[in-house]
Amino acid sequence: MPVWYHDSYTEGIDQNARFPRDRYRLLRERLSHLQDIGLVNIEEPKPIDTESLLLAHDEDFVNRFLGGILDSKERRRIGLEPWTEAFVPRTLRIMGGAVEALEHVTRFGGIAGNMAGGTHHSHRSFGSGYCVFNDLAVCALRAREVDGYARVAVLDLDVHQGDGTATILRGEEGVVTISVHCEGNFPFRKAESDHDLPLPIGTGDEGYLEAVEQALAIVSDFSPDILLFQAGVDGLEADALGKLSLSRRGMMARNHLVFSQLGGITPCVFFMGGGYSNPIEHTVDAFYDLFEVAARFNTEFRIT
Ligand SMILES: [Zn+2]
Repeated sequence: MPVWYHDSYTEGIDQNARFPRDRYRLLRERLSHLQDIGLVNIEEPKPIDTESLLLAHDEDFVNRFLGGILDSKERRRIGLEPWTEAFVPRTLRIMGGAVEALEHVTRFGGIAGNMAGGTHHSHRSFGSGYCVFNDLAVCALRAREVDGYARVAVLDLDVHQGDGTATILRGEEGVVTISVHCEGNFPFRKAESDHDLPLPIGTGDEGYLEAVEQALAIVSDFSPDILLFQAGVDGLEADALGKLSLSRRGMMARNHLVFSQLGGITPCVFFMGGGYSNPIEHTVDAFYDLFEVAARFNTEFRIT
């Protein structure tokens, strides 16, 4: 299974930023094992082209970000400060990784992942909550406009609602958005996805997995030609921003449910999403589990 990663995913965030940037590097190190046994292939992304960004974002916002002239309020809303010179190229590489994963599954089928992203709080004309551009919305629109998919499902299982994705993709024909999230969590003013499944604080594994099954039934009814999966692991009980009180086993069960639903037919791109445990090792473990199960399903499904 191909996975996209570049050193800038880690190093493009200042080491003094509050965001736990080492989660990317640590996961990359852990995935070496899966690479050694032939389960994953780590690929280097190129920066995304501007045209793809403009599928989901206003030109003025894109140009001002690229030109380094967002004002301090806009920067603060995104977070990840202090921004270094490497922050713009990092953002473009992460978006590039998402698009390359999409193009890969379009050509070859199966599952592919980006070792960052899932930037679901980014809106059409502003970034928010660690998200500059919205890779899910860009990929959904590119899948439809460029790759010719008729039916695109965006499934968001991060603990936070996919508000930017919901807003950008609202009313887009052939695209459905589904978000399972903690209702007492950021963003406090929720957007309207096509299907929202909000859960109370402290829900735990059982209630969460029931909601995931409901979400998957919605995906199944929609019968997508491609699934875009935001696989945030910030619902873990060890997570600083979590509040859903999920165990590592519960998170593994969730991933298993999602990938088994694909049935070897539907191409799938997954995006890392949130994960902020302290210490960060719990998050890295949960992401490792995610990439491992995805790679195992991909091997099982592979026809070629
Ligand atoms: Zn999150």
